[in-house]
Amino acid sequence: MAMRIILIGPPGSGKGTQATSIREKHPIAHISTGDILRENVRAGTELGQTAKRFMDAGQLVHDNLIIAMMRARLAEDDAQNGFILDGFPRNVSQADALSSLLDGMSLRLDAAVLLEISDETVVRRLTCRRVCSSCGSIYNALSHPPKARGVCDSCGGRVVQRADDQESVIRNRLAVYHKETAPLVEYYESRGMLRRVPADGESNAALKYLESLRASGK
Ligand code: ADP
Ligand code: ZN
Repeated sequence: MAMRIILIGPPGSGKGTQATSIREKHPIAHISTGDILRENVRAGTELGQTAKRFMDAGQLVHDNLIIAMMRARLAEDDAQNGFILDGFPRNVSQADALSSLLDGMSLRLDAAVLLEISDETVVRRLTCRRVCSSCGSIYNALSHPPKARGVCDSCGGRVVQRADDQESVIRNRLAVYHKETAPLVEYYESRGMLRRVPADGESNAALKYLESLRASGK
């Protein structure tokens, strides 16, 4: 059964982690705009070169670039059976663009899942976040370090701190979230699509919630 959901939440609310746990149970595409952008930066594409300075500063990359990127991504085969969008839409104009993209494909979203968490918890989490520079696996310097220091458990790649996970940049990303992305809460709430999930507990909270909705036939 197709499931089309978007995850909304501040940086560090665990969108990627929640998406991974949903994906383990439901074989749908996990589409993270941040991951696609970071791949482009690594590969040195034109998009990556343009995006990098916005990303390093914690600012949003321009809508037209993001929307073109998502139009192409949603047309790929693996997205036809459903998807989890992680990090898109990030403002109201991206939400409008997504809605027309889906209209054009005769598809509709099932839910907008809001991961709720306080700013202080986010700062605490992100300053401890570490990622594998090869496969993107996520670690925590305190609660979930890789078995060998600095080496990814799954692929042996180098585990590093993201440039934008320094506290000053985190504060900036939070400010951008409250200004640009938080209006989506009202946007999807008024369309009857918003589902609130606490994001300071289990990494499969969103999955459990979606399964309970499904079981109750909503
Ligand atoms: P987080 O949710 O932890 O802030 P992401 O990996 O989702 O991190 O995004 C990292 C950066 O990539 C953002 O700070 C922004 O510069 C850029 N980015 C990701 N998604 C979008 C988007 N939908 N629109 C504009 N910029 C984006
Ligand atoms: Zn790895």
